[in-house]
Amino acid sequence: MPDCEKLSKCLFFNDKMASKPASAEIFKKKFCKGDKKQCARYRVSSAGINVPVDLYPNQADKADTIMSKKK
Ligand code: SF4
Repeated sequence: MPDCEKLSKCLFFNDKMASKPASAEIFKKKFCKGDKKQCARYRVSSAGINVPVDLYPNQADKADTIMSKKK
């Protein structure tokens, strides 16, 4: 699978979020260079919603909540 096209601007990928989880490098491998469609940030962004600065790639539930509020 190709790398996520948001790599260059993504706060998470560029370690620009308030805190960096211990599993950050694992997430990058799993989502950014793996399956971006599973990434919470990617999903919210793809829905045309501004991605919260504190949303991590593994927070699928939070992404679902954000997207359900937008409908
Ligand atoms: S997969 Fe998610 S966290 Fe990784 S670069 Fe894309 S939007 Fe950012």
